[in-house]
Amino acid sequence: MAQYYGEAIRVTSMSDEYEYISAHPCPNCGGRWKVRMQALLKDAQGRHYDRVDVICRQCKRCQAFLFDIDSFFEGSRD
Ligand SMILES: [Zn+2]
Repeated sequence: MAQYYGEAIRVTSMSDEYEYISAHPCPNCGGRWKVRMQALLKDAQGRHYDRVDVICRQCKRCQAFLFDIDSFFEGSRD
């Protein structure tokens, strides 16, 4: 799945991400998401993003949410 950083959802905390995900259930059946994978991404400008891959518990539809976490990301750089 392609990453569209410009469409990332801006959040100010990790819990905001989960609130957003639970507020936007599966468009197919309205089912709840189950998180499959979470990945930290960085664009060419060094901005940080969190990608959360989810699967619908009911119809198994897969989707990915992309969050702009730069406002609170202070993690160590390796
Ligand atoms: Zn579903």
